[in-house]
Amino acid sequence: MRHFRFPAVLSLSALLITIACTLNPATGQRQFTLIGEQQEIAMGREYAKSVEAEIGFYQDEKLQAYVQSIGKELASHTERPSLPWEFHVVDDPGVNAFALPGGYIFITRGILASFNSEAEMASVLGHEIGHVTARHSVEQLSRAQLAQLGLGVAMVASEDFRQYADLAQMGLGVLFLKFSRDDESQADQLGLRYLMRDHYQAEEMPKVFEMLKRQTEMAGGSRLPEWQSTHPSPEHRSAKLHRRIEKLGGSPPDALVRRDTYLEHLRGLVFGPDPREGYVAGRTFYHPQMAFRVDFPEGWKIVNQKQMVGALSPDRKAAIVLKLAQADDPGAAAQKFFNQSGVRKLGRRGRGFFDFQIDPSTDASGGSQPGARGSIAFVKHRNLVFQLVGYTSPGDFSSYSRVIRPAISSFRKLTDPAHLNVKPKRVQLIRVDRAMSLEAFDRKHPSSVSIEELALLNGIQPTDTLKSGTLIKRVVGREPPKN
Ligand SMILES: [Zn+2]
Repeated sequence: MRHFRFPAVLSLSALLITIACTLNPATGQRQFTLIGEQQEIAMGREYAKSVEAEIGFYQDEKLQAYVQSIGKELASHTERPSLPWEFHVVDDPGVNAFALPGGYIFITRGILASFNSEAEMASVLGHEIGHVTARHSVEQLSRAQLAQLGLGVAMVASEDFRQYADLAQMGLGVLFLKFSRDDESQADQLGLRYLMRDHYQAEEMPKVFEMLKRQTEMAGGSRLPEWQSTHPSPEHRSAKLHRRIEKLGGSPPDALVRRDTYLEHLRGLVFGPDPREGYVAGRTFYHPQMAFRVDFPEGWKIVNQKQMVGALSPDRKAAIVLKLAQADDPGAAAQKFFNQSGVRKLGRRGRGFFDFQIDPSTDASGGSQPGARGSIAFVKHRNLVFQLVGYTSPGDFSSYSRVIRPAISSFRKLTDPAHLNVKPKRVQLIRVDRAMSLEAFDRKHPSSVSIEELALLNGIQPTDTLKSGTLIKRVVGREPPKN
């Protein structure tokens, strides 16, 4: 959960769908598409807004500008140079990159930490650009998926009551369209084309895909699915790239790698989950940046999203959601909540603390909402009003109320400096002054990650010897307290 928040508005119903047959300039193939270029751009722009709201951009202007400049340079030499290309680093520890229709490309800070050259980054940007120039994502977003998306948005339209199962996913899945093996292979080919047009060393591309596969297996704490799951990676994928590079005659001797230029941009990069935005220790959720803590019921699954923190009972029948209320004080927030149609107050249990019932209803399209019963608390903290709501089906409330009520009334100001002052881990760079093994480097400059992970981050093996004068990454910083 973060301080900055905007409602994610997807108004896709406003986009008209037409059928067209066009010749794709990148692939040379005829494509039947439901969506014209202007619509493609409008759609991408809408999704991009929700990426910013739900995941957020990484706060480092220099790094953002760098990624943007490399990405735009690559895109300017493609078959669709006039798209409104945008490249953003999203604040996520996972290892991933994804493209939205219209030229909106996102890359995680987690994947950036694992690259070791500008050519490696350009390989992944080129691959994602390939998905856009070949219009893969537009094709994927079929009429059916659009309809489904509309439904999903309607379901979460009442922000207070997401279906329990949605808590774990929060509708981000739709951004990660699974491409077919053919699409992936085509994006690899196009990516390679763009990489070579910008005079990068082509051999960096198959290497980076092999590395990412290893890297993904180690990553964790992401709000997004991992690269590997969104990019099915058949065994022969990098072999295929190698063969293609050979056929193209390889890279010229002066092809660009730009190792140090790239690495210099990673100095101080946040590594792994950022505990300042909230973390769980035991059954307590701590939010150092906003200085509060909440004790959730024992055994519940806690999900920390950008705009809310959710907890789901083990049987997935009950949920607790903590978020900011759009009101100046708890009284106004409560009034707003109970003014919603179908929401009834069952009783006041304390200051800003109520039981409520939501009556079953049928919406315009004939879908039925099952109704819910729960408790809600409104708390003012640091000039913000927080809303904690615990709910389940009306029939199950009597058994869940004994864990829901204590949880939603456990919101406290966080004062313990051990939790308040936690810091994220960060990437540091050290130029080795003499040849040494990575193990010796790790003894001299200890990292807070394992030697295997350190080797992966540096794109080498733990037993490899580092040449004198090489820039090497290490990770510094500690885990937040466990209780
Ligand atoms: Zn892909």
